[in-house]
Amino acid sequence: MSFTIHGIGVSGGIAIGRAHLLTHTQLEVEHYDIAEADIEQEKERFDHAIGTARSELAALVEHIPENAPPEFEGFLNLHLMILGDSTLSEVPKTLIETQRCNAEWALTQQAEELLAQFDRMEDAYLRERKADVVQVVERVLKALMGQPRAIPAPRHPEEDSILVAHDLSPADVILFKQHRYASFITDLGGVTSHTAILARSLGIPSIVALHHARQLIHENELLIVDGTHGVVIVNPDANVLAEFHLRQEQWQLELEKLKRLRSTRAATLDGTRIELHANIELPEDVEQARGNSAAGIGLFRSEFLFLNRREIPSEDEQFEAYRKVAMEMAPLPVTVRTLDLGADKNWNGASERSPNPALGLRAIRLCLAEPRMFHAQLRAILRASHYGKIKILVPMLSTAHELNQTLHLLDEARHSLDQDGIPYDREIPVGGMIEVPAAALSLPTFTRRLDFLSIGTNDLIQYTLAIDRTDDSVAHLYDPLHPAVLQLVAHVIRSGQKAGRPVAVCGEMAGDVRLTRILLGFGLRQFSMHPAHLLSVKQQILRTDLEEVTQLANKMLKSDDPERLLALLERMNA
Ligand code: PEP
Ligand code: MG
Repeated sequence: MSFTIHGIGVSGGIAIGRAHLLTHTQLEVEHYDIAEADIEQEKERFDHAIGTARSELAALVEHIPENAPPEFEGFLNLHLMILGDSTLSEVPKTLIETQRCNAEWALTQQAEELLAQFDRMEDAYLRERKADVVQVVERVLKALMGQPRAIPAPRHPEEDSILVAHDLSPADVILFKQHRYASFITDLGGVTSHTAILARSLGIPSIVALHHARQLIHENELLIVDGTHGVVIVNPDANVLAEFHLRQEQWQLELEKLKRLRSTRAATLDGTRIELHANIELPEDVEQARGNSAAGIGLFRSEFLFLNRREIPSEDEQFEAYRKVAMEMAPLPVTVRTLDLGADKNWNGASERSPNPALGLRAIRLCLAEPRMFHAQLRAILRASHYGKIKILVPMLSTAHELNQTLHLLDEARHSLDQDGIPYDREIPVGGMIEVPAAALSLPTFTRRLDFLSIGTNDLIQYTLAIDRTDDSVAHLYDPLHPAVLQLVAHVIRSGQKAGRPVAVCGEMAGDVRLTRILLGFGLRQFSMHPAHLLSVKQQILRTDLEEVTQLANKMLKSDDPERLLALLERMNA
């Protein structure tokens, strides 16, 4: 039966391929058939893994460290209880028998069933225990598989597979950079969550906030993903399939045409130069940035070096990563953002999840609370500055005190390098991200002491409109055209420049061609976005009459009527 599911498109284009379902657990498992004669042996293998997991947990209970938090023992006992429950320790054996499948597959199928029940629970405490079930299942899977494979293995070649997940963390998505899936779609997630941002950087069509896709779609079903319109068509008929093959070709043609703009200078019709920079997550992304003629790296999200690992990368390892990017981009500038961990980007070693992560110990707040970790990063960035043109960008500043502390720690890092006789760029520019309304509204605090500003519209919108960017239930409220957002963005661009400080926008607004002209009209001359968007934004700039859009942008700032704002935007983009 054919049906459609609607979500929020986060990366445009059309993909056609077979569904590959991702389980809740971090570990991907294979699915294979078991011969009738091997069923008993497979069930024994399962029992053995349950036994191993039980012994591991029992050993942990026996050796609880003295300084462990008091709830640690309760937590281990809860895991033992979950493990002992027949839904996990017995039912998978029935599945092995009835479905003649391998133990790993039987366990994950049963776990999915159980986790779906948790999702439906009213009681928030019980709902939260879902994470414990996932951890127990992972423990048993590890026992079954020996070393976990971090890489999902679809039945079809990756290029023909569409990954269907309930949720993906930014750390998961970064793993997909090594793969060639045709697309991925998720039940959860907001438009500017880091998961969605990474989806864009992969340049494959993707959709978030589909709510029940993971439940409705079966392994191996044929899917069409229309990332531009946020629609998934499951089991399309032949006519629909033919129509979408055609649209897919047209999309490819458009992309090919855009490539001709690679060597064109970015300027508006009157010749005003606009700088188009790239956002990157890992040093490997430089290739895509260069391939799309970025004028520099406007945002290197350095925290991605810290994901998918237990240990914090050492100063030397970080230095090598920053130096590589600086050298590959030289003489063009590279803006390294200091760690923005916390919120939806937790590194494995993080202790407790805060009750409200977006408002918790995140970004510069976390760095100031962990001065040793910050010191190592600052030294690494400074050392790399000797090999190219590096700028330092500090995320999520909101108070003068944070700025003072940051600059003080930077001085300390400089001083320690001087003592070690290690060279670095003494004129290294230091900038701040304006992504908290408090910072936008107290701009002189930041323009006085910083060399440049970069507006992080993803967070600025999140904090202005009070919508969690990772929460799909409020994703529809994300609105870059909200009058308050427009006022703040225009204010920062204009006041920052008046104070003689260059201002860039590096949030997703910068890469949205629908909004390019508003930003130009507000006076923005430097954009930073995912490399995949550079050429379409350049195309928009090349066709822009700056005087006209400035007048229209001024009119937008005088209006708080959503319909009029939309009408003005349409006129601007006509
Ligand atoms: C932003 O908030 O707009 C931004 C660019 O930073 P990040 O998306 O990494 O939070
Ligand atoms: Mg941000």
